[in-house]
Amino acid sequence: MASIGIVGAGTAGLHLGLKLLSHGISVTLYAEQDPAKLRLGRLPNTVAHHAPTRARERELDVAHWGGPQADMYQVDIHVNGPQSFGLSGRLESPTIFVDYRLYQPKLAEDLVARGGVLEVRSVDAAGLEALSTQHDLVVVATGRNGLTALFPRIPELSPHTKPPRLLFAALLKGVQMQDPIGMHANLIPGQGEIFESQVVSRQGRVPSILVEALPGSELAVLSTQRYDADPRAFEALLMDRLRRFAPATYERVNPAEFGILGPMDWLQGSFTPTVRRGWAPLANGRFVMAVGDTHVTNDPVAGQGANAASASAFAMAESIIEALAAERPFDEGFCRATEEKTWAAAAPATYWTNALLQPPPPHVVEVLVAGSQEPRVADAFVNAFMIPEHILGACASPESAAAFLAKNRPAPAREAPPVHEALAWHPIPEEVVAPVAVVR
Ligand SMILES: Cc1cc2nc3c(=O)[nH]c(=O)nc-3n(C[C@H](O)[C@H](O)[C@H](O)COP(=O)(O)OP(=O)(O)OC[C@H]3O[C@@H](n4cnc5c(N)ncnc54)[C@H](O)[C@@H]3O)c2cc1C
Repeated sequence: MASIGIVGAGTAGLHLGLKLLSHGISVTLYAEQDPAKLRLGRLPNTVAHHAPTRARERELDVAHWGGPQADMYQVDIHVNGPQSFGLSGRLESPTIFVDYRLYQPKLAEDLVARGGVLEVRSVDAAGLEALSTQHDLVVVATGRNGLTALFPRIPELSPHTKPPRLLFAALLKGVQMQDPIGMHANLIPGQGEIFESQVVSRQGRVPSILVEALPGSELAVLSTQRYDADPRAFEALLMDRLRRFAPATYERVNPAEFGILGPMDWLQGSFTPTVRRGWAPLANGRFVMAVGDTHVTNDPVAGQGANAASASAFAMAESIIEALAAERPFDEGFCRATEEKTWAAAAPATYWTNALLQPPPPHVVEVLVAGSQEPRVADAFVNAFMIPEHILGACASPESAAAFLAKNRPAPAREAPPVHEALAWHPIPEEVVAPVAVVR
């Protein structure tokens, strides 16, 4: 029987492994940490899974979380500054935030329960070469930090050479959670972004925060001043920044109870978004492929990295299933063709994320302002926001923004010219832009 080795038990490796297993293909997952250890570790991120990823989870039969106590329908976007305004929309298909310290160990256990093998060990470059002789194909899914050196950066797809944002994320206490369950996105000119949401955690659903600070801004200190050096001082600082830059969250803060939920429930750091070649030759003549963050690392600002990793994992699984059925080898030709498919699955998220990291051009501000005045535009915008192809369809250019507004505003529709490259943003290829989404 064909055997696929996957190094890394993050969302990319797990979704790939579970999908292959569901087609009767033997899978061995090599994981740095065992599930029990992972459960007790540090908060790795605050990840939202949107409707397309949740559909894949249902297909894999791993939709263990969800329902009225977890599903997020409400999305509020505030543009904070001298002329603050905001929009509030409702999702048609809910998003969910699950603490990855629950999510990934549970999916690893599902994989084992379905006949997959989980081997706990860290794999280095030499180990990878040995594994490549034991499996028909080895896929590297070690995230943005592990084994990426094998896969060269593609400069023309990687506009960033340093971190565009400095990050702070945490689970919180002492913040009254929004009801209905929702997310507050604060876009703060000159500072960055603050996202308040609600995460299903070991302690139940709890408030969470992600600060995306522009380097040199007043928010940046939340990424550089160590929380553990003086937790009380840090929490006072965080409260101050919420008061000044995320007032809609701050008004639900109880200062007497406010703080970081537990000693492992925070993270600080930064990284450079990068697109790498999706495959690499090994010295022994075999090839390995990359998926997820190892292939494409996005900044978290758009909440898309894991969603893109899951979409790419499915695209790769389909390629592997087809090659096995046709008895085609896992050679360079396979790698090149598969990379095209995994990049096609991930590219819209990358273009949308890189666009969002820049100040919004006037046509996007116009859409946001319209959303603050027209509930139908707000609903259409927040639904599109979760799906990169759709939001690019709404924001890629002045023409697409006009078409989006014409379709979603109760005003008489105007003839809209076709979408083309935006001048103010990095060019966005037309093939990653979906036709304008309409929400009724
Ligand atoms: C603060 C923050 C917020 C985020 N918010 C969102 C969001 O809202 N929505 C979203 O879609 N994405 C979000 N992301 C991005 C998301 O976390 C990543 O894109 C996603 O987790 C990538 O999945 P992956 O499987 O490729 O890598 P990872 O999840 O990083 O998994 C890699 C795995 O490989 C293991 N590993 C590493 N090296 C080795 C080795 N040598 N041998 C064996 N195992 C190894 C690691 O231990 C890990 O288990 C966020 C990220 C951050 C930091």
